[in-house]
Amino acid sequence: MTERTAVVTGGASGIGLAIARRLASDGARVAIFDLNGAAAQSAAASIEEAGGKAIGLSVDVTDRPGIEAGLDEVRSRLGPTTILVNSAGITLDGPFLEMTQETWDRLLAINLTGTFDCCQAALPGMVEEGWGRIVNISSSSVHSGVARMVGYVAAKSGVVGLTKALALEFARYGITVNTIPPGFIDTPMLQEARERGLMSVEQQTERTPVGRIGRPEDIAGACAYLVSEDASYVTGQVIGVNGGRNT
Ligand code: NAP
Repeated sequence: MTERTAVVTGGASGIGLAIARRLASDGARVAIFDLNGAAAQSAAASIEEAGGKAIGLSVDVTDRPGIEAGLDEVRSRLGPTTILVNSAGITLDGPFLEMTQETWDRLLAINLTGTFDCCQAALPGMVEEGWGRIVNISSSSVHSGVARMVGYVAAKSGVVGLTKALALEFARYGITVNTIPPGFIDTPMLQEARERGLMSVEQQTERTPVGRIGRPEDIAGACAYLVSEDASYVTGQVIGVNGGRNT
Protein backbone atom coordinates (compact mmCIF):
# COMPACT_ATOMS: atom_id res chain seq x y z
CA MET A 1 0.00 0.00 0.00
CA THR A 2 2.88 2.43 0.61
CA GLU A 3 3.28 2.85 -3.17
CA ARG A 4 -0.38 3.71 -3.66
CA THR A 5 -2.41 6.89 -3.82
CA ALA A 6 -6.13 6.59 -3.07
CA VAL A 7 -8.95 9.05 -3.71
CA VAL A 8 -12.03 8.64 -1.52
CA THR A 9 -15.09 10.67 -2.53
CA GLY A 10 -17.45 11.60 0.30
CA GLY A 11 -14.44 10.89 2.50
CA ALA A 12 -15.18 13.57 5.11
CA SER A 13 -18.00 11.62 6.74
CA GLY A 14 -19.34 8.20 7.66
CA ILE A 15 -18.32 5.26 5.48
CA GLY A 16 -15.97 7.32 3.28
CA LEU A 17 -14.15 8.69 6.32
CA ALA A 18 -13.68 5.20 7.80
CA ILE A 19 -12.34 4.00 4.44
CA ALA A 20 -9.94 6.97 4.18
CA ARG A 21 -8.64 6.27 7.69
CA ARG A 22 -8.24 2.56 7.03
CA LEU A 23 -6.41 2.97 3.71
CA ALA A 24 -4.10 5.55 5.29
CA SER A 25 -3.35 3.25 8.21
CA ASP A 26 -2.58 0.51 5.68
CA GLY A 27 0.04 2.88 4.24
CA ALA A 28 -1.68 4.50 1.25
CA ARG A 29 -1.47 8.24 0.56
CA VAL A 30 -5.07 9.39 0.72
CA ALA A 31 -6.92 12.29 -0.92
CA ILE A 32 -10.35 13.06 0.46
CA PHE A 33 -12.78 14.60 -2.05
CA ASP A 34 -15.87 16.07 -0.43
CA LEU A 35 -18.46 18.73 -1.06
CA ASN A 36 -17.49 20.29 2.24
CA GLY A 37 -13.87 21.35 1.75
CA ALA A 38 -13.33 22.34 5.40
CA ALA A 39 -14.61 18.94 6.59
CA ALA A 40 -12.35 17.21 4.02
CA GLN A 41 -9.33 19.16 5.28
CA SER A 42 -10.10 18.46 8.90
CA ALA A 43 -10.57 14.72 8.14
CA ALA A 44 -7.19 14.74 6.37
CA ALA A 45 -5.61 16.55 9.33
CA SER A 46 -6.91 13.88 11.72
CA ILE A 47 -5.35 11.18 9.51
CA GLU A 48 -2.03 13.04 9.50
CA GLU A 49 -2.15 13.39 13.30
CA ALA A 50 -2.52 9.60 13.46
CA GLY A 51 0.66 9.23 11.36
CA GLY A 52 -0.87 8.84 7.89
CA LYS A 53 -0.46 10.90 4.71
CA ALA A 54 -3.62 12.67 3.58
CA ILE A 55 -4.97 15.79 1.90
CA GLY A 56 -8.54 17.08 1.79
CA LEU A 57 -10.01 18.86 -1.23
CA SER A 58 -13.33 20.50 -1.96
CA VAL A 59 -14.65 18.47 -4.91
CA ASP A 60 -18.28 18.15 -5.93
CA VAL A 61 -18.76 14.85 -7.78
CA THR A 62 -21.36 16.51 -10.03
CA ASP A 63 -18.70 18.92 -11.35
CA ARG A 64 -16.57 17.12 -13.95
CA PRO A 65 -13.99 19.94 -14.41
CA GLY A 66 -13.70 20.06 -10.59
CA ILE A 67 -13.03 16.31 -10.47
CA GLU A 68 -10.34 16.63 -13.18
CA ALA A 69 -8.73 19.55 -11.33
CA GLY A 70 -8.83 17.55 -8.07
CA LEU A 71 -7.11 14.56 -9.71
CA ASP A 72 -4.44 16.88 -11.18
CA GLU A 73 -3.78 18.32 -7.73
CA VAL A 74 -3.59 14.81 -6.23
CA ARG A 75 -1.09 13.79 -8.92
CA SER A 76 1.17 16.74 -8.15
CA ARG A 77 0.97 16.40 -4.35
CA LEU A 78 0.64 12.63 -3.79
CA GLY A 79 1.33 10.91 -7.13
CA PRO A 80 -0.96 9.20 -9.63
CA THR A 81 -4.28 7.93 -8.33
CA THR A 82 -4.45 4.15 -8.64
CA ILE A 83 -7.19 3.56 -6.04
CA LEU A 84 -10.60 5.22 -6.32
CA VAL A 85 -13.38 4.71 -3.79
CA ASN A 86 -16.70 6.34 -4.69
CA SER A 87 -18.59 6.86 -1.44
CA ALA A 88 -20.19 10.29 -2.02
CA GLY A 89 -23.93 9.88 -1.97
CA ILE A 90 -27.23 11.29 -0.81
CA THR A 91 -30.67 9.88 -0.02
CA LEU A 92 -33.97 11.62 -0.65
CA ASP A 93 -37.29 9.92 0.01
CA GLY A 94 -40.99 10.45 -0.60
CA PRO A 95 -43.98 9.02 -2.45
CA PHE A 96 -43.17 8.16 -6.05
CA LEU A 97 -46.14 10.02 -7.50
CA GLU A 98 -45.02 13.21 -5.77
CA MET A 99 -41.38 12.96 -6.81
CA THR A 100 -40.27 15.93 -8.89
CA GLN A 101 -38.00 15.73 -11.90
CA GLU A 102 -35.52 17.84 -9.92
CA THR A 103 -35.33 15.26 -7.09
CA TRP A 104 -34.90 12.40 -9.56
CA ASP A 105 -32.16 14.30 -11.44
CA ARG A 106 -30.30 15.17 -8.23
CA LEU A 107 -30.32 11.58 -6.95
CA LEU A 108 -28.96 10.32 -10.25
CA ALA A 109 -26.46 13.18 -10.63
CA ILE A 110 -24.72 12.54 -7.30
CA ASN A 111 -25.13 8.80 -6.78
CA LEU A 112 -24.76 7.51 -10.34
CA THR A 113 -23.38 10.15 -12.72
CA GLY A 114 -20.91 11.31 -10.04
CA THR A 115 -19.57 7.77 -9.84
CA PHE A 116 -19.41 7.56 -13.65
CA ASP A 117 -17.50 10.86 -13.89
CA CYS A 118 -14.98 9.95 -11.19
CA CYS A 119 -14.36 6.55 -12.80
CA GLN A 120 -13.96 8.03 -16.28
CA ALA A 121 -11.63 10.76 -15.04
CA ALA A 122 -9.43 8.39 -12.99
CA LEU A 123 -9.23 5.37 -15.29
CA PRO A 124 -6.76 6.74 -17.91
CA GLY A 125 -4.17 7.24 -15.14
CA MET A 126 -4.72 3.69 -13.88
CA VAL A 127 -4.34 2.29 -17.41
CA GLU A 128 -1.08 4.24 -17.73
CA GLU A 129 0.15 2.73 -14.43
CA GLY A 130 -0.99 -0.79 -15.44
CA TRP A 131 -2.69 -1.21 -12.07
CA GLY A 132 -5.84 0.07 -10.47
CA ARG A 133 -8.60 -0.55 -7.99
CA ILE A 134 -12.09 0.98 -8.00
CA VAL A 135 -14.62 0.34 -5.25
CA ASN A 136 -18.08 1.83 -5.70
CA ILE A 137 -20.25 2.10 -2.60
CA SER A 138 -23.78 1.18 -3.68
CA SER A 139 -26.52 0.10 -1.24
CA SER A 140 -28.19 -3.02 0.09
CA SER A 141 -31.41 -1.45 -1.20
CA VAL A 142 -30.41 -2.80 -4.62
CA HIS A 143 -31.15 -6.29 -3.21
CA SER A 144 -34.29 -5.48 -1.30
CA GLY A 145 -35.82 -2.39 -2.89
CA VAL A 146 -37.12 0.31 -0.54
CA ALA A 147 -40.57 1.90 -0.79
CA ARG A 148 -40.54 5.69 -1.23
CA MET A 149 -36.88 5.67 -2.30
CA VAL A 150 -37.28 4.96 -6.02
CA GLY A 151 -34.68 7.46 -7.24
CA TYR A 152 -32.05 6.34 -4.74
CA VAL A 153 -32.57 2.63 -5.40
CA ALA A 154 -32.56 3.20 -9.18
CA ALA A 155 -29.34 5.22 -8.97
CA LYS A 156 -27.59 2.65 -6.76
CA SER A 157 -28.76 -0.18 -9.03
CA GLY A 158 -27.14 1.77 -11.86
CA VAL A 159 -23.90 1.83 -9.85
CA VAL A 160 -23.98 -1.99 -9.72
CA GLY A 161 -24.42 -2.19 -13.52
CA LEU A 162 -21.69 0.41 -14.10
CA THR A 163 -19.35 -1.60 -11.85
CA LYS A 164 -19.94 -4.92 -13.64
CA ALA A 165 -19.51 -3.50 -17.14
CA LEU A 166 -16.39 -1.48 -16.25
CA ALA A 167 -14.82 -4.52 -14.60
CA LEU A 168 -15.01 -6.46 -17.87
CA GLU A 169 -13.67 -3.60 -19.99
CA PHE A 170 -10.66 -2.84 -17.77
CA ALA A 171 -9.68 -6.28 -16.41
CA ARG A 172 -6.94 -6.63 -19.00
CA TYR A 173 -5.15 -3.53 -17.65
CA GLY A 174 -4.68 -4.90 -14.14
CA ILE A 175 -7.64 -2.85 -12.91
CA THR A 176 -10.40 -4.31 -10.77
CA VAL A 177 -13.81 -2.72 -10.24
CA ASN A 178 -16.10 -3.94 -7.47
CA THR A 179 -19.03 -2.65 -5.48
CA ILE A 180 -19.90 -2.88 -1.80
CA PRO A 181 -23.61 -2.46 -1.06
CA PRO A 182 -23.65 -1.59 2.65
CA GLY A 183 -26.65 -2.40 4.80
CA PHE A 184 -27.66 -0.38 7.84
CA ILE A 185 -24.40 1.34 8.85
CA ASP A 186 -24.26 3.82 11.73
CA THR A 187 -23.32 7.08 9.98
CA PRO A 188 -24.67 10.67 9.90
CA MET A 189 -26.86 9.61 6.92
CA LEU A 190 -28.49 6.87 9.00
CA GLN A 191 -28.76 9.12 12.06
CA GLU A 192 -30.68 11.65 10.01
CA ALA A 193 -33.14 8.94 8.88
CA ARG A 194 -33.52 7.96 12.54
CA GLU A 195 -34.15 11.53 13.65
CA ARG A 196 -36.82 11.92 10.99
CA GLY A 197 -38.57 8.80 12.31
CA LEU A 198 -38.01 6.88 9.06
CA MET A 199 -36.54 3.87 10.87
CA SER A 200 -35.76 2.59 14.35
CA VAL A 201 -32.47 1.00 15.32
CA GLU A 202 -34.22 -1.53 17.56
CA GLN A 203 -36.48 -2.77 14.76
CA GLN A 204 -33.69 -2.89 12.22
CA THR A 205 -31.32 -4.65 14.62
CA GLU A 206 -33.96 -7.34 15.11
CA ARG A 207 -34.00 -7.88 11.34
CA THR A 208 -30.21 -8.19 11.20
CA PRO A 209 -28.99 -11.78 11.70
CA VAL A 210 -25.70 -10.78 13.38
CA GLY A 211 -27.77 -8.80 15.88
CA ARG A 212 -26.12 -5.40 15.70
CA ILE A 213 -25.99 -2.24 13.67
CA GLY A 214 -23.14 -2.01 11.15
CA ARG A 215 -20.12 0.20 11.75
CA PRO A 216 -18.37 2.27 9.05
CA GLU A 217 -15.25 0.22 9.87
CA ASP A 218 -17.08 -2.93 8.70
CA ILE A 219 -17.24 -1.42 5.21
CA ALA A 220 -13.67 -0.11 5.45
CA GLY A 221 -12.38 -3.64 6.18
CA ALA A 222 -14.04 -5.07 3.07
CA CYS A 223 -12.78 -2.13 1.00
CA ALA A 224 -9.21 -2.59 2.28
CA TYR A 225 -9.32 -6.17 1.00
CA LEU A 226 -10.75 -5.19 -2.40
CA VAL A 227 -8.01 -2.61 -3.02
CA SER A 228 -5.23 -4.96 -1.90
CA GLU A 229 -2.93 -7.12 -4.01
CA ASP A 230 -4.71 -10.18 -2.59
CA ALA A 231 -7.88 -9.21 -4.45
CA SER A 232 -6.39 -9.12 -7.97
CA TYR A 233 -8.65 -12.03 -9.06
CA VAL A 234 -11.80 -10.38 -7.65
CA THR A 235 -13.52 -8.08 -10.13
CA GLY A 236 -17.05 -7.20 -11.18
CA GLN A 237 -18.33 -8.43 -7.83
CA VAL A 238 -21.05 -7.25 -5.48
CA ILE A 239 -19.65 -7.81 -1.99
CA GLY A 240 -22.51 -7.31 0.45
CA VAL A 241 -21.58 -6.11 3.96
CA ASN A 242 -24.89 -6.15 5.78
CA GLY A 243 -24.80 -8.43 8.83
CA GLY A 244 -26.60 -11.14 6.85
CA ARG A 245 -29.65 -8.99 6.08
CA ASN A 246 -29.36 -9.81 2.36
CA THR A 247 -27.87 -13.08 1.19
P1 NAP B 1 -22.68 10.43 4.96
O1 NAP B 1 -22.12 10.29 6.32
O2 NAP B 1 -23.76 11.40 4.68
O3 NAP B 1 -21.45 10.68 3.96
C1 NAP B 1 -21.66 11.05 2.63
C2 NAP B 1 -20.61 12.07 2.26
O4 NAP B 1 -20.77 12.38 0.86
C3 NAP B 1 -20.80 13.41 3.03
O5 NAP B 1 -19.54 13.87 3.48
C4 NAP B 1 -21.36 14.32 1.97
O6 NAP B 1 -21.01 15.69 2.16
C5 NAP B 1 -20.66 13.78 0.73
N1 NAP B 1 -21.31 14.26 -0.49
C6 NAP B 1 -22.64 14.42 -0.73
N2 NAP B 1 -22.82 14.92 -1.95
C7 NAP B 1 -21.59 15.10 -2.49
C8 NAP B 1 -21.12 15.62 -3.74
N3 NAP B 1 -21.98 16.08 -4.67
N4 NAP B 1 -19.79 15.66 -3.96
C9 NAP B 1 -18.92 15.24 -3.02
N5 NAP B 1 -19.29 14.75 -1.82
C10 NAP B 1 -20.62 14.69 -1.57
O7 NAP B 1 -23.28 9.03 4.47
P2 NAP B 1 -22.74 7.52 4.59
O8 NAP B 1 -23.78 6.75 5.30
O9 NAP B 1 -21.31 7.45 5.01
O10 NAP B 1 -22.85 7.12 3.06
C11 NAP B 1 -21.72 6.84 2.25
C12 NAP B 1 -22.19 6.03 1.05
O11 NAP B 1 -22.76 4.79 1.51
C13 NAP B 1 -23.30 6.74 0.27
O12 NAP B 1 -23.08 6.57 -1.11
C14 NAP B 1 -24.56 6.01 0.72
O13 NAP B 1 -25.57 6.05 -0.25
C15 NAP B 1 -24.03 4.60 0.94
N6 NAP B 1 -24.86 3.81 1.85
C16 NAP B 1 -24.92 4.05 3.19
C17 NAP B 1 -25.70 3.21 4.01
C18 NAP B 1 -25.79 3.40 5.50
O14 NAP B 1 -26.46 2.57 6.15
N7 NAP B 1 -25.20 4.39 6.09
C19 NAP B 1 -26.39 2.14 3.45
C20 NAP B 1 -26.32 1.93 2.10
C21 NAP B 1 -25.54 2.76 1.29
P3 NAP B 1 -22.04 16.66 2.96
O15 NAP B 1 -22.20 16.05 4.32
O16 NAP B 1 -21.34 17.98 2.94
O17 NAP B 1 -23.32 16.64 2.15
